[in-house]
Amino acid sequence: MSAAPPTFAPPFERMALIGLGLIGSSLAWAARANGLARDIAGFARSEATRARAIELGFIDRAAESAAAAVRGADLVVLCVPVGASGAVAAEISATLAPGAIVTDVGSVKAAVVRDVAPHLPAGVHFIPGHPIAGTEHSGPDAGFAELFVNRWCVLTPPEGADPTAVERLTAFWRACGMSVDLMPAEHHDLVLAITSHVPHLIAYNIVGTAADLEEVTQSEVVKYAAGGFRDFTRIAASDPVMWRDVFLANREAVLEMLGRFVEDLTALQRAIRWGDGEALEALFTRTRAIRRGVVEAGQETAEPDFGRRDHGGRAIRGPARPRS
Ligand code: NAP
Repeated sequence: MSAAPPTFAPPFERMALIGLGLIGSSLAWAARANGLARDIAGFARSEATRARAIELGFIDRAAESAAAAVRGADLVVLCVPVGASGAVAAEISATLAPGAIVTDVGSVKAAVVRDVAPHLPAGVHFIPGHPIAGTEHSGPDAGFAELFVNRWCVLTPPEGADPTAVERLTAFWRACGMSVDLMPAEHHDLVLAITSHVPHLIAYNIVGTAADLEEVTQSEVVKYAAGGFRDFTRIAASDPVMWRDVFLANREAVLEMLGRFVEDLTALQRAIRWGDGEALEALFTRTRAIRRGVVEAGQETAEPDFGRRDHGGRAIRGPARPRS
């Protein structure tokens, strides 16, 4: 189900961001660009990241601890790897303001709900979320305000969640440029297992396999990467800690989808072994139609070579293009 479009997004007085990497910094930039928070406090684990956030100017204040960052905040966003969410929630629980909205951006939802909810005091509105937008870059320098534009954000409000708080958070993400869907956390995890988590696992695996091949030299792997391998290397460059946590936290759904994937791969293996061109062509025709659907839905460019080249064949330079 989609939440009804709000007419406007009234700004939050004080937004606190815990985690100031790609998503935390992008969110701060987006909030600044769209006037969504009057004051932004931030906390990250390392002093270096906190200092960099101040230097870049996407937060107003760097706090000394997560507990200090959330004091007086009416919106708290956890932007840490999903495996760290529970510990952060325990740390901030005593200083959360009554009535505050607490949300997160984690790529897995059921595990975050399980780890975070028990720590939050009554009177605080916990509405988990996942902006499905990202790049393979991480850290405070990687963020940019437009990351969320024309992407989907999934919110997974628990049963009995305050509708006003859900509407307010929906309006916030919409003002950042996102479309918003509401769904149960478990359903989110199943959908994302096949659309994001398993594809990442395949990329990590194929790049690892190529790196281990002894009969193909490393320089050949790099030289001929344009044959399809290059796109896997981009995905496989994604943050190791974030993705470690995703697979540990979404174990059941990933294993379920991986089981289906392996079955289908075995069928393809058989088709190749027995020279069954018809089966191969039928699948490739079906998948081509899916690609068309993705482009038509505005989730990808129809440009040749994923828009890396202009029509004169020259490479297009620019910032990392957003990816889901
Ligand atoms: P990132 O660039 O690596 O940033 C992570 C941030 O969390 C860093 O500032 C890090 O601090 C901080 N941090 C880690 N553990 C902490 C702790 N215990 N206490 C306080 N701060 C801590 O990661 P990201 O890409 O922004 O990902 C953040 C979240 O967004 C993850 O849950 C991920 O699943 C989700 N997400 C990611 C993407 C994507 O494509 N990257 C897309 C959608 C959602 P230091 O810098 O000091 O280490």
